[in-house]
Amino acid sequence: MSAHVDEIKQVPRSGASTRPARPKKSNGQWKVDGQEPLNKNEIDKAADNGLNVRTRIEEVYSKGGFASIDPDDLHGRFRWWGLYTQRKPGIDGGRTAKLEPHELEDEYFMMRIRTDGGALNLEQLRTIAEIAEEFARGSADLTDRQNIQLHWIEIENVPEIWRRLEAVGMQTTEACGDVPRGFLGSPVAGIAADELIDPTPAIEEITRRYIGDPSLSNLPRKYKTAITGHPSQDVVHEINDCSFVAVDHPEHGIGYDLWVGGALSVVPRFAERLGAWVAPDQVVDVWLGVTEIFRDYGYRRLRNKARMKFLLADWGPEKLRDVLETEYLGYRLADGPPPPKPMVSGDHVGVHRQKDGKYFIGTSLVAGRASGTLFHQMADLIEEYGIDRIRLTPMQKILVLDVDETDLDDVGARLDALGLSSRKDLFRRSVMACTGIEYCKLAIVETKQTAIDAVTRLEERLADIDLPHPISLHLNGCPNSCARIQTADIGLKGQIVTTDEGEQVPGFQVHVGGGLASKDRDEAGLGRTVRGLKVTVDGLEEYVEKMVRRFLDGRSESETFSEWAHRVEDEELV
Ligand code: SF4
Repeated sequence: MSAHVDEIKQVPRSGASTRPARPKKSNGQWKVDGQEPLNKNEIDKAADNGLNVRTRIEEVYSKGGFASIDPDDLHGRFRWWGLYTQRKPGIDGGRTAKLEPHELEDEYFMMRIRTDGGALNLEQLRTIAEIAEEFARGSADLTDRQNIQLHWIEIENVPEIWRRLEAVGMQTTEACGDVPRGFLGSPVAGIAADELIDPTPAIEEITRRYIGDPSLSNLPRKYKTAITGHPSQDVVHEINDCSFVAVDHPEHGIGYDLWVGGALSVVPRFAERLGAWVAPDQVVDVWLGVTEIFRDYGYRRLRNKARMKFLLADWGPEKLRDVLETEYLGYRLADGPPPPKPMVSGDHVGVHRQKDGKYFIGTSLVAGRASGTLFHQMADLIEEYGIDRIRLTPMQKILVLDVDETDLDDVGARLDALGLSSRKDLFRRSVMACTGIEYCKLAIVETKQTAIDAVTRLEERLADIDLPHPISLHLNGCPNSCARIQTADIGLKGQIVTTDEGEQVPGFQVHVGGGLASKDRDEAGLGRTVRGLKVTVDGLEEYVEKMVRRFLDGRSESETFSEWAHRVEDEELV
């Protein structure tokens, strides 16, 4: 037993029964309970590390075709290399929960490319465009974790795709699976004029040293990291397992405030501060220590209790920090202040001056829907203006960096013509959508096209008003929260709903008034639900327009949408 696991000795009271206490049920914590695997996932991971499947893909499956794939590899270890089977077309959402996984899956894959920190150069952009067009039927979506997702990938082509990606410094290693997933990094790292510190060196060192490291490739579940040096706190740090947020310490200077244990999904929980200030040269060690705590103490018995948030809920931030310092780091961290509430938006939409005198243009790609064609067009455009860098954001947006002042109007207009508007006043600015029924086996409703259609119509419906601040609209295709619905002003959770006429149609349960402290609230808060509040896909725009107009009519001065939504009575929200 570890020195940090309190051993409670029970002394029987006089006259009390001396019957031995029933042994405590194992939670599957490696350092407490030992490493005996307690469920099918843990058995599979113990039998063979997920990273090992790469050799079989290259040497066996890509040659033998889909039918040659071992089911344990197909439904488990493939994720360690960013591969999931995608949903078979034509299965409606009402059948999702009724079918077995193998009945829902197609013989094609989604492939997730990680871009830690969201940084891409021209060569990488072109490579993704070429791969998308040659191997993925043109598909290439942006996720809200700065990843790129290709679809329609055939197993026969996977080795060639890896070869091309790795030739330009990209990878799919540990893009899915029970591993350190792609890092959220400030999309303006190293360029923003108002940046406190550039987190790029930490991202690069952690990625180089630990992504693909077998010692961290069997975690209890997925593990998400975020790091930002920008005062807008632009990486949704409240909902990551381990986050670093730049802060200016009165004695030690600029470093990072450490947050642990956030995640959404069906049991959302915000991360908590450990009260520790992390010096820039301590970030890699501290990240490793927190990750190893999760590996060694995370709950592995039940998968729905295996995220870091459940360990934090039981331990509390003080114990977690103590274990980190005494058992993993071997030194104490300095106490530190919280980062101040951000005063600027973290979506980076619009034109902004860089620290080197050039500019970056932040554009609103709607709902992350991009394509090989769009990436080719972007590559042609930026090359013409001598630009080599773009960034993907955690809000499914794209930034074009290093624009000369004299080119701003031209580049902005040409991006606009590609559907990449930098206007700050458009509703599309804060719309996000998950993958949805088009490709996801868990989905109940369609999301991407629904979001795109809703944006088009809402921008017409709301053309007569000026919003005091962006109102975010996030769409999920099922109760999981890949599009972070509980943190949106209006969050939509996909489900089948029954109309007044008794018809079962695709729709959404509505969450209203969610927000992160890093956005527009003093404290992070989840959206509220109202009993019976559901909208059909067809009734979506009407509902959103109604809410926006009610908010504008009923808000008190300076009140945000989420503050208003939490203040008003239920009737105002239906
Ligand atoms: Fe799939 Fe549900 Fe995640 Fe959407 S929220 S991508 S439907 S699992």
